Amino acid sequence: MTTSLLLALLLLPYDGKYADDPRLDAIRKELPARAEAARKKLEDLLQVKVPEVGIRLVDAGDDRSGVFAESGDGFIALKTEYLVLGAFDLDKTLVHEMFHCLQRARLGRRYDRVPEWVREGAALYLAGQGPERARSLAAIAGKDGISKLVNGLGGSHGLLDYYEDAAAFERVGARGRDLVRKLLETDDVAAAVKEVLGEDMATFEAETMRHARAVLEPLLAGPHAPVEALRKAQALAAEAKDAEALEAVRGFLALYRTEAWLLGDAVRLELELLRRTGSPDHAEAAKRAAKDLTVFAP
Ligand SMILES: [Zn+2]
Repeated sequence: MTTSLLLALLLLPYDGKYADDPRLDAIRKELPARAEAARKKLEDLLQVKVPEVGIRLVDAGDDRSGVFAESGDGFIALKTEYLVLGAFDLDKTLVHEMFHCLQRARLGRRYDRVPEWVREGAALYLAGQGPERARSLAAIAGKDGISKLVNGLGGSHGLLDYYEDAAAFERVGARGRDLVRKLLETDDVAAAVKEVLGEDMATFEAETMRHARAVLEPLLAGPHAPVEALRKAQALAAEAKDAEALEAVRGFLALYRTEAWLLGDAVRLELELLRRTGSPDHAEAAKRAAKDLTVFAP
């Protein structure tokens, strides 16, 4: 069997709303090779064998819980709408989700006892998503949002906790990898931290919070380039400067698609401007939007 046939087996059959859409088709063709590259990257980072995982494409429909991919026992589910929209960095997402699969496979039933900050922090750190997450969350939380973003590692876990999770590993640089490797063997996090870093949990948590604050505080003050870029397009549209607004929103879409929390508004604005300017592209764009925008609140 050739390598390409083997790789193709990683991608599960898909028969959803984009089955005949050339946008998804292009991504599907590349997915097995990109998943394999992500697996190799994770193996290089951790120096452990990473098992192959299957990839399922799933239409989110009107599930608006967010761009997050899901992973389970040996599979990763990617939401097609966000994939087609280019709303996340696919290569980083594959490393991230593959790490979840790896840790789950290594720990078995003990995985349920691993705190959320360990699971997510390690995945973000290995995928190199910490810095971009810090920028987005700072923009989402707003100027006075530091206490929402840095509040300790325990407690209930939500969107705004993700940078602090990453900071737990980023802070210690390359030793973060040693800590992740240890956490593939045990769910006793305090013992792993003690062994690898020589810190007790109180120190580890305090130092993590200090690091997260140091990274986030300058970002919270702004300005946030993606937010500014979209605002500028919206302001031009409000002044009926349609051609300029269209150019501005396309500028946003060229640079900032991975800011998924702004993407729905941007795509809607582009569509509205195509309509207003009588563009011949409007009909096709409207068809695409009807499929893509189900994941964003109306
Ligand atoms: Zn995750």
